[in-house]
Amino acid sequence: MPIAEVIDSARNQGRTVLTEIESKQILAEAGIPVAVAQLAKTADEAAKFAENAGFPAVLKIVSPEITHKSDIGGVKVGLDSADEVKKAFDEIVAAAKKAEPKARIEGVAVQKMAPAGTEVIVGMSKDPQFGPVLMFGLGGIFVEVLKDVAFRIVPLEARDARQMVREIKGFPVLEGIRGQPAADLAALEGLILKLSEFVEAHPEIEELDLNPVFAYADGVIAVDARIVIS
Ligand code: ADP
Ligand code: MG
Repeated sequence: MPIAEVIDSARNQGRTVLTEIESKQILAEAGIPVAVAQLAKTADEAAKFAENAGFPAVLKIVSPEITHKSDIGGVKVGLDSADEVKKAFDEIVAAAKKAEPKARIEGVAVQKMAPAGTEVIVGMSKDPQFGPVLMFGLGGIFVEVLKDVAFRIVPLEARDARQMVREIKGFPVLEGIRGQPAADLAALEGLILKLSEFVEAHPEIEELDLNPVFAYADGVIAVDARIVIS
């Protein structure tokens, strides 16, 4: 779906926070690698989508009021059959209702489970003085506890992306340590540059979070995405 249509439909519903599904639709349209997700309204529909996408599947709650999906039991990974998917659908909806009784539940996002990779995050926020700023870091404790991240003002040049991935303290993790494979640095730099172009072309985007992106020896893929519009 074209970017403008996704944004208009969210605005018409009075929302500035796009769902994971909407965010990924827009990003895929812009040529950014994402684990595409489909919105299932029923357990049977979820099973059908998973069968089409291929197992193992991942299911996640879709609700405008729930941003940290796994915190409330709203994410299930490694689902290997239609039956597991149906059961997970019911469990996720029940968990969401219990944790956030007032939340509107749109359904459950169904996507293929991506193989494990090195987890990184890429984000954009707007600085009142400098405008859009991109952030890059390693996922999990590296960003949450150690605040090991790099920032650059949009628009970025190839050199900026190169420096960003190399200047974080955790860079050796990307180079491959302790038997972990090296991450595809060129693909990471390409992702950062594409995001820079994307946010520059779309000033209506106020915030963007790809958390996490899985980095492989060959390629990268964003498995979670969140976009906030003005
Ligand atoms: P939230 O950040 O809202 O809790 P995520 O979508 O980031 O939810 O999912 C939580 C975790 O589940 C991710 O950090 C990732 O490890 C895993 N995950 C999510 N989607 C996928 C996917 N498509 N393939 C593989 N793992 C996934
Ligand atoms: Mg996430």
